[in-house]
Amino acid sequence: MTAPSPAPILVWFRDDLRVSDHPALAAAATSGRPVVVLYVLDDDSPGLRPLGAASRWWLAGSLRALAAALAERGVDLVRRRGPAVRVVEAVVAETGAAEVVWNRRHDPATDAVDRAVAAALARRGVGVRSFLASLLVDPAEARTKGGTPFSVFTPFLRHLLARPAPRAPLPAPGPLRGVGGLASEPLESWGLEPKAPDWAAGFRALWTPGEAGAQARLAAFLDNGLAGYATLRDRPDRPATSRLSPHLRFGEISPFQVWAAASLAREAPRGARPSGADIDKFLAEVAWREFSYHLLAHHPELATRSFQPRFDAFPWRDDPAGLRAWQRGETGYPIVDAGMRELWRTGWMHNRVRMVVASFLVKHLLIDWREGERWFWDTLVDADPANNPASWQWVAGSGADAAPYFRIFNPVLQGEKFDPDGAYVKENIPALADVPASLIHKPFTAPPLLLRQAGVTLGETYPHPLVDHAKARARALDALATIKATE
Ligand code: FAD
Repeated sequence: MTAPSPAPILVWFRDDLRVSDHPALAAAATSGRPVVVLYVLDDDSPGLRPLGAASRWWLAGSLRALAAALAERGVDLVRRRGPAVRVVEAVVAETGAAEVVWNRRHDPATDAVDRAVAAALARRGVGVRSFLASLLVDPAEARTKGGTPFSVFTPFLRHLLARPAPRAPLPAPGPLRGVGGLASEPLESWGLEPKAPDWAAGFRALWTPGEAGAQARLAAFLDNGLAGYATLRDRPDRPATSRLSPHLRFGEISPFQVWAAASLAREAPRGARPSGADIDKFLAEVAWREFSYHLLAHHPELATRSFQPRFDAFPWRDDPAGLRAWQRGETGYPIVDAGMRELWRTGWMHNRVRMVVASFLVKHLLIDWREGERWFWDTLVDADPANNPASWQWVAGSGADAAPYFRIFNPVLQGEKFDPDGAYVKENIPALADVPASLIHKPFTAPPLLLRQAGVTLGETYPHPLVDHAKARARALDALATIKATE
C-alpha cells in the first residue's frame, strides 16, 4: 500500500473492545490523522496466559461487534495473530504510522508486553501515548498513608471514595478517516468458537458479547436490579446482580461508565430511586475489581503463589476423582453441583455460589485452590486475570485480605439460606426438580419413599455426597493446624 498523508495513527485495541469512553480512540479521532485500528491475538509473547475456552468464545463475539461499530465509523478492524511486538511493528511499517495509542493494561504480564512494544516503537522513532481507561485508579497511584500499596480492602475503598470523583465517560467518536488495503485475518481462522461438540449453546442463549450488549445489561440492571441490590445480591435464585462481569472483563463497558450511571441513580425521581445502600454496595463491588487489580499489580504471581507464604506448606490432597466430581457438578451437595453446572452451561456463576463451590473444593476436598482457579479460568466467560486469582485466594484463606480459613461453609445451610425454595438448584439440576424445598439442599437425608416419589435414585440419578460435611470440616481444621504450627 502507499502510505497515506498525513501519516496515520494506530489504535491498538486490547481489553477495551468498545468505541465509547475509549480515550485512545478519542485521541486518534481528534489527531486529524487517518486511523488504523488493530487487534492482536497474542498467545505467544512470553509470560502471557492464553485465554481459556469460554473467554475465547466471548472474544469472538466481542470482536465481531467491535468490527461492526468501527465499520459504521468508516474504519476496518485489522486482525492479526502473533507476538504483539512483531505484529505492531509490522503494521506500523506497513502503514507508516507516526504514532501508536492504547489504553493501559494493568496486570504485570500484559504490561511487560506493552513496555516491550513501546520500546520497539521508540527505536523506530514512533511515539506512543497510553491512557487510563480500564480502571478508575491506576494501581501505581493508590497508596496507604504510609506510602505502601494496599493489602486490605476497606482502607482501599475509603481511599478510592476520598479521591476526586472519577472523570465523566467520553462519547463515541463520529466518522473516522480510515486506511484501506490492510490485510486482516478472518476471525473464523482463529478457531475461537467451538465446532464439535458445540458446548456454547447455553452461552448464546444468555449473552450478547459486545458494547451494545453491555449497555443493554447496564440499562436493564439500573431499571430492575439496582433497587434491592444490597439485600438480594446474595440470592442466586433472583436476577439481582448486573451480570456485567464479562463485559467489564473485555472492556466492552468501562468502569467509568458503570460508576457514572450508578451514581446518577441517586438523582432518579423518588419511587424509582434505589436506596443509597443499594448504590453504595454496588459501587463497592466495582471497587473490589479495582482492589483485585491493585493486588495483582503489586503481586504478579497472584495466580500461582499463595499470598500468605505459610500456605506453601498446606497439605493439599492429590485427588483427581474428587476434582473431576467437583468440575462436573457431581459432589452430591445440590448448591455446589447447581453452581458447577450453571458454570458449564452458561459460562458464568453467581458470586455467592462461586464462594460456596470454591470453599467446597479447598476445604471439603482439600484440593489446592490453584486447581479451581485454573478450571474457572477455562470455563468462565468473565475469567479475569485479577478477579479470579484474588477471589480464589480470598476464599482459600491464603489471600491478602482473606476470609479466615477456619470459616468453613456448610453447603446445606448456604443452600437453605440463599436459595430457600430451591429454585436455583431445580433450574440447574432437573433431576431434583420434584424434591420438596425442605429437602432440596440435603436429598441424602430424605426418606427413601419420598425420594422415589420425586424420581430420585441416589447414586444413579443424583450422586451420594462425596464427603460427610462434619468429617470434612474436622479434616480441614486439622490440615490448617499443621500450617498454624509452622507460623
Ligand atoms: P455485580 O454484583 O453486578 O457487580 C458488578 C461488578 O463488580 C462485577 O461485574 C465485577 O466486575 C465486580 N465485582 C463484583 N463482585 C466482585 C468481587 N467479589 N470481586 C471482584 N470484583 C467484583 N469476577 C470476575 O469478574 N472474574 C472472575 O474470574 C472471577 N472469579 C471469581 C472466582 C471466585 C472463586 C469468586 C468467589 C469470585 C470471582 N469473581 C470473579 C467475583 C464475582 O463473583 C463476579 O465478579 C460477579 O459474580 C460477577 O457478577 P455480576 O457482574 O452480576 O456482579
